[in-house]
Amino acid sequence: MSGSPEAAGVQPVPALFFARVERRYRQAEGAVEILRGADLAIWPGELVALVAPSGAGKSTLLHLAGLLERPDGGEIYVGGQPTAAMADAARTRFRREEMGFVYQFHHLLPEFSALENVVMPQLIRGLARKEAKARATELLSFLGLGKRLVHRPAELSGGEQQRVAIARAVANGPRLLLADEPTGNLDPSTAGHVFAILLSLVRASGLAALIATHNMDLAARMDRRVTIRDGLIKPLD
Ligand code: ADP
Ligand code: MG
Repeated sequence: MSGSPEAAGVQPVPALFFARVERRYRQAEGAVEILRGADLAIWPGELVALVAPSGAGKSTLLHLAGLLERPDGGEIYVGGQPTAAMADAARTRFRREEMGFVYQFHHLLPEFSALENVVMPQLIRGLARKEAKARATELLSFLGLGKRLVHRPAELSGGEQQRVAIARAVANGPRLLLADEPTGNLDPSTAGHVFAILLSLVRASGLAALIATHNMDLAARMDRRVTIRDGLIKPLD
């Protein structure tokens, strides 16, 4: 058998699909409506920039996509699976197996080397140490850190720390990469460099990515740009 999934009669499934998603926060002054029936589909291999002003709800959207928060209405499908009613344990397992996260701050374990930081999530997933090390070495080398494997985070530059965080995020071969202003804490030239490596990694691995950024130059290098407006996710161009 060869050919596309369509030819085989299999419908392609979005890596991430928001269907009429609602999210509001209740506060003393009343409810803050972040999403009011937002739709979004991200397909395998697609790189989507999430560009919106501070406070618009970018982190909220990423937390929903990452199953760290539950929607107040609507459904979130990851790889075709509905998640809104999933039990917490199943959501945690799903998050660990299907998703990678990169934050503005690297959140690496300070006592461990770059290599160990990338090995760890693979051991938690159940991989043998030897294979986990081989994969971590390959990933870090791809990210230009082949000579930094045994360095601890404090011995690395900001751009290097962030590249280790990226390697850690994709160590388990996720379906979906979620990144919240991943280069927001770096100087512009380092940000551009880290971003270029992130893009080539996403391209090489075929995963889907949703990346929040304030930087329009970086957003312009992705496949598509979306924003949050009037509680909806809309194309930005
Ligand atoms: P962004 O990442 O785009 O800056 P956020 O998603 O962090 O935006 O926040 C969107 C809005 O929701 C902000 O007004 C913020 O104050 C509010 N908000 C975020 N998280 C909470 C929370 N846990 N409780 C109450 N309000 C929140
Ligand atoms: Mg934010």
